Amino acid sequence: MRECKGKIFNIQRFSVHDGPGIRTTVFMKGCNLRCRWCHNPESYERETQIRYFPEKCRECGACSHVCPEGIVVREKMRQNADRCIACGRCVRECPFGALACLGEDKTADEVLDIVARDRKYFDKSGGGMTVSGGEPLLWSGFVSELMARAKETGIHTALDTAFAAPYEAFEQVRPYTDLVLLDLKIMDGELHKRYTGRSNARILENARRLLAEGIKTRIRVPLIAGVNDSEENAWMLRDFLEGYDCVEEIRLLPYHNMGLGKAKGLGMQMEEFAAPDAAQIEKLYRILKEK
Ligand code: SF4
Ligand code: SF4
Repeated sequence: MRECKGKIFNIQRFSVHDGPGIRTTVFMKGCNLRCRWCHNPESYERETQIRYFPEKCRECGACSHVCPEGIVVREKMRQNADRCIACGRCVRECPFGALACLGEDKTADEVLDIVARDRKYFDKSGGGMTVSGGEPLLWSGFVSELMARAKETGIHTALDTAFAAPYEAFEQVRPYTDLVLLDLKIMDGELHKRYTGRSNARILENARRLLAEGIKTRIRVPLIAGVNDSEENAWMLRDFLEGYDCVEEIRLLPYHNMGLGKAKGLGMQMEEFAAPDAAQIEKLYRILKEK
């Protein structure tokens, strides 16, 4: 069988927030939502991109000399960046590590070689591998292969998804998924569209099917002040999840602004939001715990 490849932008070891125990999280590139608060804007595009670290740049100009597209990479003079073919020459040329390629094509075996290095931590802590993104279901063929291989070797698997994909993509991955981490960002359809660029109709329909099938699920809600931290949103979420015993946990993840620097390094504009205060977060947890 020919192995397919997936575009990975990060493999993060010793992750403790992406499911049970100590985990290695594999981040797939490409997302079909555009959450305005995104903390991983490097995952938006499916293709490889070049990230620029202005704090490391000495303005030496070496990158631009080798660019076949005549792109000036440096921040203040960035020109023609849309012509970038991500050949990586500038990254290799930069003597100060001020450029990096985001997105590498890897086979499932190549990824698993890295993941399996931490098997002893997985075994001790009840951890495993989480596949995240971006939206991993945009790579359902690759992800199902990766998860199948992981399960063959006894590694616990979790899928972190926003579920804005056809349910059939999930069905491909489902036989090899021990746990789903499901992002339910905003329950109101109009608000969801305003802040993520898409309606939540498909997401909620997929979520209903998933929960009706009794698949172990943990709900994750990125919490943004003035966007989805209302009591109304919490009540809607609570009502939506009513009666589903397969929901193991609901976790609220307060906003942080780490995405801003990454966006800047990719030449993107992002607005800054705020996290709700501790009292509001506690109030929302109280509503959700009545489930
Ligand atoms: S990756 Fe290639 S095309 Fe893009 S800026 Fe660097 S040298 Fe130019
Ligand atoms: S080669 Fe590196 S340090 Fe020199 S201008 Fe380009 S990004 Fe900056």
